[in-house]
Amino acid sequence: MNYELFDHKKKGKKIYLVDMTKEATGYFSELAERGIEKTLRQGKRVGIILNKKWFSSWVLCQSCGYIPQCRQCDVSVAYHKLPQGDFIGLCHICKTQYDAFDACPQCKQPNAMKPYWLGIQKAGEMLRDMFGVSPLLLDSSKVNSFAKLKKLDLAAHQLIVGTELLTTPIKECDFDLLVYLDADVGLNIPDFAAVERNFRFLYDGLSRHTTKNFIVQSYNCDHYSVRSACALDLVRFKKNEDEFRCDHAYPPYGQICVLRYKHEVEERLHTQVSNLYKELLFLQEKYKMPDLEIYTTPPLVYRIYGKYRYHIILKGKNLRQFMEAVYTTLKLQKRWFKVDWDAMSLV
Ligand SMILES: [Zn+2]
Ligand SMILES: [Zn+2]
Repeated sequence: MNYELFDHKKKGKKIYLVDMTKEATGYFSELAERGIEKTLRQGKRVGIILNKKWFSSWVLCQSCGYIPQCRQCDVSVAYHKLPQGDFIGLCHICKTQYDAFDACPQCKQPNAMKPYWLGIQKAGEMLRDMFGVSPLLLDSSKVNSFAKLKKLDLAAHQLIVGTELLTTPIKECDFDLLVYLDADVGLNIPDFAAVERNFRFLYDGLSRHTTKNFIVQSYNCDHYSVRSACALDLVRFKKNEDEFRCDHAYPPYGQICVLRYKHEVEERLHTQVSNLYKELLFLQEKYKMPDLEIYTTPPLVYRIYGKYRYHIILKGKNLRQFMEAVYTTLKLQKRWFKVDWDAMSLV
């Protein structure tokens, strides 16, 4: 079997970590399928945690590979299923709605557009088809507060599929089995804080629920955020995270300041950023700070609400003093640069 058992005898918890790279299908592992089937058959309750809203994250043309993007943002159009069963396209940033694609907008091939990657709506449909039980779906568009969540008659549902919301236990709704479908959801984000967020997402659910059996599906079983969470070992995680941040001089071992700029004209964006970058290098030399790291980079999503975005990142020690001088000398406020003085994230 493609799993490793973390047996927490004193806590009465068994956490099965499944290596998804060795599974035949990408969504539900063999162990999860068997576990869900057995638990439901015994009349017990199953919770599925998947931190993806809606039906699917993107739509892909089977014929030419085209992936429709939002007109205003550099993200793919996700699919959302309406209560009456129709699909609509949605941008998860600006919330612009699009008609579902009958034919490919690029190669015009009919019926070629297929939704890809799993959101909780699609996971819910797959579970219903596999086990004959209709799940209750929980995400922040339906329940945006813990108080609202408590008002739902959760105890009446044997199968619940939810986003991060489900990592918090709810009274009168104990699960006999909890499955994390995608334990690596935060690891693909290029940000030094992503690993900690991913650990929290796993550790919070695994440590706070009184559930006896957990299944955690991961493509990165050796990653310390996944392993420490399954081992319920906060101390080990902090030690690893500390070493990682120390090695790369990330906070608290070094300071990071992000200068954010956005503009609807791409050319102007690049001129402004490149001018400021050159001036910063000049001041770095003037103030004799050769160890300071200064670089320009686009953020995770280059264009949002029709505006292009770019970052100048400064990293190092004694950054505050340098930045205070820079702020006044280079008139950052007048030039519409937003300064994140002690950035805790790069995205
Ligand atoms: Zn958009
Ligand atoms: Zn196409």
